[in-house]
Amino acid sequence: MADEYKSADQAPLVTLSTGSLYTYGLARTFELMQGSAFDGVEIIVDNRWDTRQAEYINSLTAQWGIPVRSIHAPFGTISEMGSDYPSTLKATIRLAEEVGARTVVIHPISRSAPDLAQWLHANLADLQAQTRVLLTVENLPRKLIKRLGILQRDFHEFWHPDAMRPFAALTMDTTHFGVSQIDILAAWQQLHATVQHIHLSDEYNGREHLYPGEGTLPLADFLGALGRSRFGGIVVVELHPFALHAGRSDEKVRDRIHQAAAYCRQHLAVTGAARVPEAQPSR
Ligand SMILES: [Zn+2]
Repeated sequence: MADEYKSADQAPLVTLSTGSLYTYGLARTFELMQGSAFDGVEIIVDNRWDTRQAEYINSLTAQWGIPVRSIHAPFGTISEMGSDYPSTLKATIRLAEEVGARTVVIHPISRSAPDLAQWLHANLADLQAQTRVLLTVENLPRKLIKRLGILQRDFHEFWHPDAMRPFAALTMDTTHFGVSQIDILAAWQQLHATVQHIHLSDEYNGREHLYPGEGTLPLADFLGALGRSRFGGIVVVELHPFALHAGRSDEKVRDRIHQAAAYCRQHLAVTGAARVPEAQPSR
């Protein structure tokens, strides 16, 4: 794939995370997306073979005409992919290369390697030098540890924009900043030079990965800020399946998928032309 990581003249790609319908099989997710205005998918790798066999994934892309633009690394070690988390991560990068994805999303904390962050600080630059797939690190929701019923300390620091600064390329997750009480517009101002990838979803009262526009985050203004700054990365709609009404009729789910893509395009494009003054947010 000849795409550059960031191109000032290109509108960002808008894609759907397969995690948004993880309660369905991967093939059905591709089928439900057909005809939508999404430019492709982000595949979240988990313990289902469907999510990590390149040949099968490439056959879905060929069948439905939906490219894989990015790969989300698994949350923990998957034994068939490697004996520890770093080797699982390396296998994920190989998978991204084999399916033609341009970006990999990494959580700096993994279920099976709580000290992953240290490993990333020491090794990520080397890992990046060995692949043309862009390796991005994602901000995570704040998690406090309780002791004797009292909130004691942070389990990790990756809920805060300052902790994300040392990484060369970031995935900015709006809902994770939202539940961590971080203003997403301020975080974008602070981090935009290194943000290459967006996970977009809404948040309401601690509930994560809600449908865009159905929570309290200023997502329309945020997308407008991306548009105005000529963001050239990928905007991935990453929802909980309930946000797409998974389990109801296919028609309803398709409708929700279509409207989510339209929401992103509308707000990226309308305010991208700088017709909406900064001082007068649209909502
Ligand atoms: Zn995310």
